[in-house]
Amino acid sequence: MSISLNIENISKQLPDGVKLIAVSKTHPVETILEAYNAGQKVFGENRVQELVAKYEALPKDIEWHLIGHLQSNKVKFIAPFVSLIHSVDSLALLKEINKYAAQSNRVLDCLLQVFIAKEETKFGLDEDELYGICNSHHVAEMKNIRVRGLMGMATNTNNETVVRSEFRYLKNLFGRVKLKFFAEQQFFSEISMGMTSDWKIAVEEGSTMVRIGSAIFGQR
Ligand SMILES: *Cc1c(COP(=O)(O)O)cnc(C)c1O
Repeated sequence: MSISLNIENISKQLPDGVKLIAVSKTHPVETILEAYNAGQKVFGENRVQELVAKYEALPKDIEWHLIGHLQSNKVKFIAPFVSLIHSVDSLALLKEINKYAAQSNRVLDCLLQVFIAKEETKFGLDEDELYGICNSHHVAEMKNIRVRGLMGMATNTNNETVVRSEFRYLKNLFGRVKLKFFAEQQFFSEISMGMTSDWKIAVEEGSTMVRIGSAIFGQR
């Protein structure tokens, strides 16, 4: 199947209001251009250096999302152009993003990444850490960031029951956090969950953004 057919096929199965992030990590700019020319304008990358290189090489109306772990000392490279950072996992990082967003005269959208999987290897906040950040007066005082919602990655397993319960947990947590800390903020509205192997389950469980790589571009 071609990239454009893959995008079309996935897009038509997504309900209104669910955004497709085409995860283009490891793929060259020519491949991304093929998706771009098919109408896809939102791309996700997991490494800062690769993201910056692709931003520089590709059309400027692309919306770039950072979906991978972000180190504080790399924020400055992406702050001038990135549209959404999915992977915020500390207050210190949020402060750094706020600082460099201010230098670029921007308000940067962020998601807080929550640990929902059974695996040791996945990054993210546990519920206490998440509440700690949301509760912090610093967050309300940072004028150059907006916390738009939560992101999570399910366990890498064929067991649909496990994956579904992890997504359901994230959706439920989103609801509680919204009520407690962001009830007045309309923009706290996003749940980034679902990738190639589990996006259909994620959408059924309330995802608003799916991050799909292999099903669009093929194996990495
Ligand atoms: C690579 C990656 C994806 C996409 O993975 P696929 O299985 O290729 O769809 C989604 N989210 C994150 C955080 C990733 O690193």
